[in-house]
Amino acid sequence: MADIAVKKVVIIGGGFAGLECAKQLANKPTFEVTLIDRTNHHLFQPLLYQVATATLPSHDIARSLRSILDEADNVTVLMDEVLNVDSEAKSLTGRSGNTYDFDTLVVAAGAKTGYFGNDHWAEHTIGMKTLAEAHEIRERVLKNLETAEISNDPEERRRLMTIAIVGGGPTGVELSGAFVELIQRSMKRNFRRIDTSQLKVILIEAGPRLLPPYEEESSAYTQKRLEKLGVEVRTSTMVTDIEAGKVITKDTVIEAGSILWAAGVEAESIVSKLPVETNRAGKVTPDACLSLPGHRDIFVAGDVTFMKDANGVPVPGVAPAASQMGRFIGKLLVKEAVPGQENAERPGFVYWDKGAMAIVGRSHAVVEFGKIQLKGIIAWFAWLFIHILFLVDFRSKLSVFIHWLWNYVTDAPGVRVFEYKPEDDISKK
Ligand SMILES: Cc1cc2nc3c(=O)[nH]c(=O)nc-3n(C[C@H](O)[C@H](O)[C@H](O)COP(=O)(O)OP(=O)(O)OC[C@H]3O[C@@H](n4cnc5c(N)ncnc54)[C@H](O)[C@@H]3O)c2cc1C
Repeated sequence: MADIAVKKVVIIGGGFAGLECAKQLANKPTFEVTLIDRTNHHLFQPLLYQVATATLPSHDIARSLRSILDEADNVTVLMDEVLNVDSEAKSLTGRSGNTYDFDTLVVAAGAKTGYFGNDHWAEHTIGMKTLAEAHEIRERVLKNLETAEISNDPEERRRLMTIAIVGGGPTGVELSGAFVELIQRSMKRNFRRIDTSQLKVILIEAGPRLLPPYEEESSAYTQKRLEKLGVEVRTSTMVTDIEAGKVITKDTVIEAGSILWAAGVEAESIVSKLPVETNRAGKVTPDACLSLPGHRDIFVAGDVTFMKDANGVPVPGVAPAASQMGRFIGKLLVKEAVPGQENAERPGFVYWDKGAMAIVGRSHAVVEFGKIQLKGIIAWFAWLFIHILFLVDFRSKLSVFIHWLWNYVTDAPGVRVFEYKPEDDISKK
């Protein structure tokens, strides 16, 4: 019997796109798959804000990539950061110094926090892309409350009890609603010297309304709802500079103990090593079948792309789009492994829009799906159901459900403990 030709597929990134692609190739004997991620886990970013706001523990939204793929005998998971791509030699180099050869490469490295060319702002703000950042946010906000409790200076207390959030997209909206509810309401009996109802959450958006890609009605509802909760919403407010503890806009300087950045993303740096031009956000536009122009064996998927699908519909940087792209590439590779199909004409990727949703504090959300728009408690239930549905495995689903139920009934989110670090200068940011 003739030997089966085995194709080496290397996937960079175990996020929504990379994981879905690996799953399609799992236990297919014609593929030897290596999935490389610089972390050891798959992260469910849509619930990251709940880790930052002390609602969920991190293990509820992050799963070991090894455990997810342990039944896939032909998939090797490696924890390394890919630093270079040699597309001619078909080889990658990792931070470890190891090299990885490939026949087919899938770049699904996602996006990182972007500062629109003002990279020095990173020093004074905390982004929201990784578990480490979500932990840092939680710790900073909670530590500031502790310091405010022991401070005798009213000005200092005010500063420590101000959270400025830059960016009025879904992440900024969800963070601001959750923080006012956590601190002003759930924690109000926890302190004796400070009044947690004095906490100020300021949500700053450069555009004229919150949730810019949503319908105007949803934006207006979201702003009204957040203001009712106690969030100070400042739309049409462009941030011109950020310094330690200060957000500077055209008209004012906001002093804040915590400055959270939820305003922009750009493609991960590894994308700049690909043999293709990138746009201002570092993203690439692939062919309709998601491979790079002139490079049939190099694919891109998920947040690293900037494209319209085969029907001319813009593909947004959201989890379902990334999963669909990963699945498309996996299926295409399986199809092309059939003898005679190696050079068949490739179909174009078609995006299935599953709608958009954002939670606006406890019991309220906005959901848009085609012409259907939901608001309030029905939208909130839809949000809960869909997020549970898309969590990666049964254990996560059950654990998140129990946490949410407990939080709802007791109104006491439990993940409030942080480590003691004597070297911390908590007034720095
Ligand atoms: C706070 C937040 C909230 C969000 N909320 C929603 C939501 O409600 N609904 C929604 O649909 N979408 C939401 N998104 C967007 C969604 O999470 C992304 O669109 C999705 O994660 C993109 O998937 P991806 O596979 O392209 O990248 P990611 O899921 O980001 O995965 C990329 C992976 O690549 C790894 N990686 C990066 N560079 C390298 C390298 N050089 N070497 C090795 N590994 C590397 C990373 O560690 C990561 O694991 C949210 C995003 C954030 C940050």
